[in-house]
Amino acid sequence: MSTATTDNEDVMIVDNNDTALLTSLGDLAEKPLIMLFLRLIGNDTKQNTVLTNAQIIDILQKEFEMDIVYTHELEVEIYLNLLKRFLKDWPQWDEFDFDINILKDQKNIAKMKDMLQSNYGSLKKYLQSMLTAVDPMLKKVIKEVNESTVREPTTTSNDEVAIEVKCTRQQLNELFFRRPHPEQNNTIFNIELPSEKIRLQPVAVQSILNWPGIRISISIPGLMYKREIKMPLKHLLINKKLNYPPPPLQEAKTNYQVRTARMTNHGHVDVKTFYDIIHRIGNGKYRNQDLMDKIWMLSALIKSDLEEAPKYIYSPSSYRQNLSKYPYKRLLCAEVNSDSFSSNNYDLVLEESGIPQLQYHFIRFSDPELEITQDASFLKLECTLCECIFAGAYMFSMIQAHFEFHRGEKDYQCSGCHVVFSMEQLTASKWRHVCDHEPSK
Ligand SMILES: [Zn+2]
Ligand SMILES: [Zn+2]
Repeated sequence: MSTATTDNEDVMIVDNNDTALLTSLGDLAEKPLIMLFLRLIGNDTKQNTVLTNAQIIDILQKEFEMDIVYTHELEVEIYLNLLKRFLKDWPQWDEFDFDINILKDQKNIAKMKDMLQSNYGSLKKYLQSMLTAVDPMLKKVIKEVNESTVREPTTTSNDEVAIEVKCTRQQLNELFFRRPHPEQNNTIFNIELPSEKIRLQPVAVQSILNWPGIRISISIPGLMYKREIKMPLKHLLINKKLNYPPPPLQEAKTNYQVRTARMTNHGHVDVKTFYDIIHRIGNGKYRNQDLMDKIWMLSALIKSDLEEAPKYIYSPSSYRQNLSKYPYKRLLCAEVNSDSFSSNNYDLVLEESGIPQLQYHFIRFSDPELEITQDASFLKLECTLCECIFAGAYMFSMIQAHFEFHRGEKDYQCSGCHVVFSMEQLTASKWRHVCDHEPSK
């Protein structure tokens, strides 16, 4: 007979016949090793007898008075695995299993109690001797590891460790605790949802239109245009207690990149033609003043994109431009609100960085015919993050209402000049700021 171990939670089978036995054991029934015996007796399918890590930690704490909180995590991990191993190897399992089950069939509670007590003593003594034997060796290993934990990293390799996490944008903002949380099983993952922050002002339309993931589409006969700011984000989980040097500052080119099917050498239009259409859209008469104001704002934004754009537009074609030279970055983490002691080997932050890029596409562009409609039916707004589309006379107020969901973004810092900006400031200014970063030679 042996015990199997697994990390999965298992079900404890309580046999009604054992109630009398439990009563006769008194306080002893609370001992983790006795509980283990009881689980074995109550369990007819022995293969399913499993121990979780939490149960083994319970044994370490209550039977061997190990103070897990003040013990190095590696040490706990090693003790955990050793104890699993020693438990399996206890030489008296078969004999105990055989004898106790005979007594169980006989419903001989008194003898079962005696047997449990003596085997408890014997198993505990066995485990204690094994733990004592490995202890000096273990202490030496832990000491070496401890001394090497907080110091300059010795390797300069670019080996990247990747973890894949599926969560919402809001969860990501506070996904990692700065240190293992002592009251939440020493986890570094914060699964609580961030609290909603109430704000009085809605996000400005100008900001929304420059928010990464918001797409503007204009579709009229002869012209199909889409505009979006994309910001591919990189995430790096950093333990600030390890003094890693900051990565070298990367610099992006901010000139336009054009992608087009060059083999169709015909079908290029002067950018002015497009500018005029956008201008007319901006000055159109729509159902209400608010719609007129917002569309005027949108047309001014699209016109501003064209200031440095190439002279000709090919059909079809894609235009891209980095909106900043240096990545914007921000540090995401959740504070541990607890007075309990936890490891001070950690100060974790998730560094998120990215360069916003303006992208617009002409899916079709030849002989466009613009007809202004009251509800601006040629125009559509789309939140690609949530896959929802806003159209019609109230599209702007609808997307503003939708944006309450996207609020609460943390501030970004320019990695060139280190100035901090709010998400709303950056989007309102189309991600541009006067950057006084001096390139170091
Ligand atoms: Zn959305
Ligand atoms: Zn800057």
